[in-house]
Amino acid sequence: MTSIPAPTPEEQVIFLGKVERLLSEGQFVATYKYAVLLAIADLAVKLGSDDGSELDLPIRTIAEEFIELYWRQCAPYGNSVADGAYNILQQNRGQQAAIISIVDDLRQAHGTLVRARQSAAWTAAVTEATRLVKDMPLWRLQRLRNEVLDFLYSQSPVAGHIRLKHGVAANLRRFHAIIVRLAQSEWMHFIQALPGNAQLLGPISDLGQFLFGADRSALLRLATPLADVQKGECLYCRRRIGHGEIDHFVPWSRYPRNLAHNLVLAHTECNRHKSDLLAAEAHLDRWLARNQAHGAAISEAARTTNIIVDPGGTLSVAGWAYAHGASLGAATWVQGDEVEPLSGRWQSLFAEYE
Ligand SMILES: [Zn+2]
Repeated sequence: MTSIPAPTPEEQVIFLGKVERLLSEGQFVATYKYAVLLAIADLAVKLGSDDGSELDLPIRTIAEEFIELYWRQCAPYGNSVADGAYNILQQNRGQQAAIISIVDDLRQAHGTLVRARQSAAWTAAVTEATRLVKDMPLWRLQRLRNEVLDFLYSQSPVAGHIRLKHGVAANLRRFHAIIVRLAQSEWMHFIQALPGNAQLLGPISDLGQFLFGADRSALLRLATPLADVQKGECLYCRRRIGHGEIDHFVPWSRYPRNLAHNLVLAHTECNRHKSDLLAAEAHLDRWLARNQAHGAAISEAARTTNIIVDPGGTLSVAGWAYAHGASLGAATWVQGDEVEPLSGRWQSLFAEYE
């Protein structure tokens, strides 16, 4: 197999410029296009590579990401609306977006995303969401008013797939944080601007936290099981922990999804010092060892929450985060205010635990 070179700096700049044009010049009647872009960016991290290869993505998998993205957004927003039937945020001009009824039905019947995934209704819901993704946003995202900007993907010769073009997966991986922030902020502005949401949102709102935040209450339910597998110790300083906090090992700011195996129990102080930094390689070693020894227990504990259980995907995300950090010369957090550069040991650690 011939290896395909990674995108050049010029190609990277052109790519980002085109993403910005899709978001600023595209016509948006619903929030679907933002969701497609976010889903594809997340899947490029999980499934893609850093060379310039094309990448086939099943449209069903995009649809599953879609359901996940809308899951928490279908929670009732606020408590100011007397008529309880209408307190879900509007995601569309005119009629409520169809994805909302698919996701809301699953929520009503199963309560949590994990239970919904295990239910008999899941396959049919994904089929319905797949049809919606194909009919609506997938082939419209790359269309501007009077121009087609189809630089991201095309039909794949493999049935039911799209094919990310050369360099696209690599660029999405490299610029994941920027693209996610762009798409989320446009999504939020769209929702704020819909007249139907004005009454629900009120003058001040924590809309960003509601739409994209980390759902702290679900995380708290993992505190006890994580304390068990970490033997009552902070993952970072290994001292005993009383009331700790749940920390995202790969920081939320770098990959804003709740993945069960990415969650660790840590002191509030350790968590605050670590902030948005990657953890140093010694911590990475302990985290990988913890997941290898106790991965099944963590999966079991997350089963009744909305937290995604995907040990393989979590490992890919972490591998991506460290490779990305290394390419940027990022500082990693050791303890307190102490940071250090990556030595390269992270590569052998990932190889060891694969
Ligand atoms: Zn600690």
